[in-house]
Amino acid sequence: ISNMGMAKKDESNSSDSDEVADNANRADTSLLMKIIRQGLVESKLDIEIQRKDPNSPLHSVKSFEALHLKPNLLKGVYAMGFNAPSKIQETALPTLLADPPQNMIAQSQSGTGKTAAFVLAMLSRVDTNKNYPQVLCLSPTYELAIQTGEVAAKMAKYCPEIKLKYAVRGEEVAKGTAITDHIIIGTPGKMLDWGLKFRLFDVGKIKVFVLDEADVMIDRQGHQDQCIRIHKCLPSNCQMMFFSATYDSAVMDFAEIIVPNPIIIRLLREEESLDNIKQYYVKCKNVEEKYRAICNIYGVVTIGQAIIFCHTRKNASWLSEKMSKDGHSVAVLSGDLTVEQRIAVLDRFRAGLEKVLITTNVLSRGIDVEQVTLVVNFDMPMDMNRKADCETYLHRIGRTGRFGKAGIAINLIDSSHSMEICKTIEAHFGKKIQLLDIEDADEIE
Ligand code: ADP
Repeated sequence: ISNMGMAKKDESNSSDSDEVADNANRADTSLLMKIIRQGLVESKLDIEIQRKDPNSPLHSVKSFEALHLKPNLLKGVYAMGFNAPSKIQETALPTLLADPPQNMIAQSQSGTGKTAAFVLAMLSRVDTNKNYPQVLCLSPTYELAIQTGEVAAKMAKYCPEIKLKYAVRGEEVAKGTAITDHIIIGTPGKMLDWGLKFRLFDVGKIKVFVLDEADVMIDRQGHQDQCIRIHKCLPSNCQMMFFSATYDSAVMDFAEIIVPNPIIIRLLREEESLDNIKQYYVKCKNVEEKYRAICNIYGVVTIGQAIIFCHTRKNASWLSEKMSKDGHSVAVLSGDLTVEQRIAVLDRFRAGLEKVLITTNVLSRGIDVEQVTLVVNFDMPMDMNRKADCETYLHRIGRTGRFGKAGIAINLIDSSHSMEICKTIEAHFGKKIQLLDIEDADEIE
């Protein structure tokens, strides 16, 4: 009987799933960013360096030659089209390649060249005269591990003697066989099985230990524990490298456990601001009125492209159907799409094939589309406690220096709760959000 009760409960949950906030999953977002990125994200900001040990040497390089890489590795780097080190690489690479090895914690936003940096370090440290694993790289998901492995394979194009193996689901090694590959890239669970449970390689002989996407990793408590268990078996002279796109205290606490006596480098990101954005709110009685508001705005403003944010998939699909019926060309980006589908949607929108992108929170950060002039919050951003989510608001509406053009943001308010969120956001940023009378929308311009 109790089982039946359970089954029933599950069913009702799943039929509700459309109502649940469609939030970004860190691992998915990170993968998507990697795939749609066309090249380096440049930053005008400076790099910040902290050293526990002031005697440790530190210098930076302006060229890949200055690193004295093996010639075939340098050839691989150039074949990837890299002419000079990125900002984070200028400082990280000399440290990562130094002798004696130094431990490093590096933080910079995605797209700044972290993966390329540690992959180069991993490849440089391999001794191909020894046929056993010497380098471990932990990634939070199957897909991210494969991405990193593909970078390694490309960079090692002219070094066929370096062997790489994936420790991910679907990969099997017969029990009792010793792994002879030099580098293993994989997820924590599989790495733990291979290294500690089945002893397919000797963790005590690892020279380099890389923790990639550490901020995504700690999203799952299990992963963190597995990393720590592997880490405990590493030799004391193993070089530790720790990479993260964010620098919050949870990430740094984890880093402290993994990386003794590190050099810490950070590349600050250019923050979004609301400076050039005109912000409005519109009072609506219900969802139908919200829709009317959007149509009215459309009637008045000559809009480049618009992004409309909804809280749930259900709202997003309702809105897109309605707008399509009324003759607007709209695209929808929500959490039920595969990575390939999301890329396709974003590519079409970038190319201007659709004027309106309706989305949930699946990608609140990272849709830097220059021609977007209007952002509409169909639903106000809120956190799990239904409180104002100011950070998400800023990512939705704000622009960085690069895309510093003027823009318009409109918040649709249909309850006292959403009004409260709007007021909280206004107070948080100290920037006025003006009431807009939608029947008289001429005042927007
Ligand atoms: P991150 O790991 O910080 O997200 P990646 O190492 O993946 O960054 O680099 C982001 C993009 O920039 C990739 O497309 C990569 O091929 C490219 N890239 C990395 N380093 C360089 C470089 N020195 N010169 C040119 N392009 C680079």
